[in-house]
Amino acid sequence: MSLTQETTVRERLYIGGDWIEPATSRTLTPISPSTEEAVGQVPEATERDVDRAVAAAGAAFDDPQGWSQWDVERRAQVMERFADALDERGSQTAHLVSSQNGMPISMSQAVEGAFPAVALRYYAGLIREKGVEERREGVFGRATRVRHEPVGVVAAIVPWNFPEALAFVKIAPALAAGCTMVIKPSPETVLDAFVMAEAAQEAGIPPGVLNIVPAGREVGAHLVAHPGVDKVGFTGSTEAGRSIGETCGRLLRPVTLELGGKSAAIVLDDADLGAHSAEFVDATLQNNGQTCYVCTRILVPRTRYSEVVDTITDIVRSLRVGDALDPATQIGPLVAERQRARVEQYIAKGIAEGGRVTTGGKRPADADRGFFLEPTVFADVQNHDTIAREEIFGPVLAVIPYDSEQDAIAMANDSDFGLGGSVWSRDTQRAIEVARRVRSGGLGINSYSHDIGSPFGGIKASGLGREQGPEGLAAYQTTKTIYNAP
Ligand code: NAD
Repeated sequence: MSLTQETTVRERLYIGGDWIEPATSRTLTPISPSTEEAVGQVPEATERDVDRAVAAAGAAFDDPQGWSQWDVERRAQVMERFADALDERGSQTAHLVSSQNGMPISMSQAVEGAFPAVALRYYAGLIREKGVEERREGVFGRATRVRHEPVGVVAAIVPWNFPEALAFVKIAPALAAGCTMVIKPSPETVLDAFVMAEAAQEAGIPPGVLNIVPAGREVGAHLVAHPGVDKVGFTGSTEAGRSIGETCGRLLRPVTLELGGKSAAIVLDDADLGAHSAEFVDATLQNNGQTCYVCTRILVPRTRYSEVVDTITDIVRSLRVGDALDPATQIGPLVAERQRARVEQYIAKGIAEGGRVTTGGKRPADADRGFFLEPTVFADVQNHDTIAREEIFGPVLAVIPYDSEQDAIAMANDSDFGLGGSVWSRDTQRAIEVARRVRSGGLGINSYSHDIGSPFGGIKASGLGREQGPEGLAAYQTTKTIYNAP
């Protein structure tokens, strides 16, 4: 791979508030999935760099005049400066993310470029509003003070699909709580993390409060098990989540796990999907299908099956597939060749098990480079087929018929996962009633869009704990009660 003029080269790691020499000369080279060309090169952190980062975070946490001891107003103000510094770099961040992971640039601007600052401002406001200590009248006659103290040094492990947004649903509440952090970006998406570090430094985030170690899973495992870490926040695959959960269980270390999904879109018999086509695409194919909560099982009443399959097929066929950096692109490439190969295997399996491809199913004829795959719709799928059970993490939808509303709810719940979901109907109250009966961490009505003010997360193989909302702040706090403290 040649490094072109467009590439970003970094030579130092951001640890302890400074740009330091990495322990070795190893490097990571992110590849553009649109062009298959290298887009940059950064040092790869090794176990020794992680040790330094954890030591820096520990020293910053233990500093009696440091971040964890600051009053909330002072922390909130620095977080808001951090938000301003990220806003200034929003387009740069969006560009870097799309060039590394293939996310359509229009989405990257709205989410990866803009959301980090929104998250920081929300949690700065929340910690101001809630404070860290409350007085309770004691049941036995003596008052107590309940303190919400920072849990300590946080290891945040982030995947490539939303490298900034998924970092900031950890960073913003952890900083508000008074924690210090070591962040491990995924090797596919490392360039944006350096821009994040520059913004943190400019904003006056004190040395050691935020440290960044770009590396792969072995170094990630070293970080998770590190004796200097007090809490782990992880987003990624269920397989990695199980392994991290086992480590944290053995160490009795608190952990939040945001994992995979196979969410259902329940289309009720009065739904008008055509009227919500943009929301439908967002809920089912967002980020080229590489989003944990996308509703890739579409449950459709048998009485309207062929008509709804046609509507979905038309919507998906109309999507524009192209270079992630083209503002007109709706479906970009998959993140890597291995990911495309994995999705193609699922398509072959879907056909072998009797599924009928109504659109897509192959690589676009006009793309001579890039890891592109046409968005694909399968009809005639049963809920027990492989493509309805396993997370594909690509633009592949399975449309499954059901006989009654009760049947649809049972099918939605018949899954190893429980992360997202959606209900589509002209009657919002009816849709809310159905949503109440689905076992999942969150659902949307005629859409799926989460909100930073409310908790997000999964049940079953989709994870443990919650991010976002006040619940996401509590995940980085521990309580201490002072008894007999009027
Ligand atoms: P992955 O689990 O392979 O990697 C995620 C991150 O964890 C990377 O930074 C990786 O280096 C690191 N990692 C992997 N194994 C590790 C280990 N044993 N110890 C420590 N670190 C480890 O997943 P991926 O391929 O990067 O992302 C795709 C998966 O993530 C999908 O399954 C998707 O559903 C899931 N995901 C879930 C959410 C959510 O919020 N629930 C969000 C995005 C992605």
